[in-house]
Amino acid sequence: MRRPLRYSHKVTDKYDLFDGLPDDLVVFILSKLSSTASSPSDFINILLTCKRLNQLGLHRLVLSKVGAKVFAMKAKYWSEFAHRFLKHCVNAGNIDACYTLGMIRFYCLQNRGSGLALMAKAAMKSHAQALYSLAVIQFNGSGGSKRDKDLRAGVALCARASLLGHIDALRELGHCLQDGYGVRQNIAEGRRLLIQANARELAFVIRSVAQSSPASSFSWRNNRYNFQTDSVCPLLSDYGYNVAMPEVHPVNWFLREWFESDRVVLEEGLRLCAHMGCGRPETRPHEFRRCSVCGKVNYCSRGCQALDWKLRHKMECSPIQLLLQENGGGDAAAVGVGNGDGGAGMEDDVAAQNAAVE
Ligand SMILES: [Zn+2]
Ligand SMILES: [Zn+2]
Repeated sequence: MRRPLRYSHKVTDKYDLFDGLPDDLVVFILSKLSSTASSPSDFINILLTCKRLNQLGLHRLVLSKVGAKVFAMKAKYWSEFAHRFLKHCVNAGNIDACYTLGMIRFYCLQNRGSGLALMAKAAMKSHAQALYSLAVIQFNGSGGSKRDKDLRAGVALCARASLLGHIDALRELGHCLQDGYGVRQNIAEGRRLLIQANARELAFVIRSVAQSSPASSFSWRNNRYNFQTDSVCPLLSDYGYNVAMPEVHPVNWFLREWFESDRVVLEEGLRLCAHMGCGRPETRPHEFRRCSVCGKVNYCSRGCQALDWKLRHKMECSPIQLLLQENGGGDAAAVGVGNGDGGAGMEDDVAAQNAAVE
């Protein structure tokens, strides 16, 4: 409802000029604010300010623009209200809400069909994270049996996500081409994509360094998780830099908190992806690949494996042979050749990843 402008008021009347703004202008301002809000409380505070802002803050246009950081709620605060808020945003056409609620439904609430449908909705609108998450589900046959793996679909989804600039998808695609996994083998092209993925990653790191002083180091999401690496990516630490790691989507934190909290106990034999910034759980035993060098950690994807390798696993991983004959019935990767520390260079890291992930 549009409010009439009342210019007749004088400043001396203690009249709040904001009250004079027409509703559609306030909705426009709120939609800008909601898209740039850096936390859920930024948006909630708007709703709590007054009746008018509460009403206009829930306007369809505002909800459609709400940014991903507004959905960065803690798993322990998950409630029917939070669920309803996400649904309102989905109904308003918010793509990130589709992806967030899709992931929560698929993995946390185990409502696989509805979760997939929501992620597909986001993917159809070119949401790179949704495309990549669907690829991970297809590669692993998540939510189904080993026979439900669809490698070709996984490759196609990765290809679309990588065109949108998703580095993990590009890396996954490179490995698929190198190995002939879900696509005809093309080692040279696979290698080219892997180099491209690392170049993009390096560009990200250089941008991060350029935006900060070398002496200072970014914490990874306010030290929410305390890495051995002092909460920073050690990628360029050999050159005196501690740099930020790629931003993790809030829903990945939500998943990890959800499955590490007391409210949920993962079924016997199911494990979480070992990369701290992932949070995806197995949906059946031995769904994820394990590190072929130590056999101690499991990953949902090569993207997670590559990042975790740089962040911490290369400092813990040591070759062992004792898992060679183990695990007859599972679909986890077999233990490969022993491969030591990948070294500090990126090229070496790639070589180590190639060997460590099959
Ligand atoms: Zn290992
Ligand atoms: Zn993962």
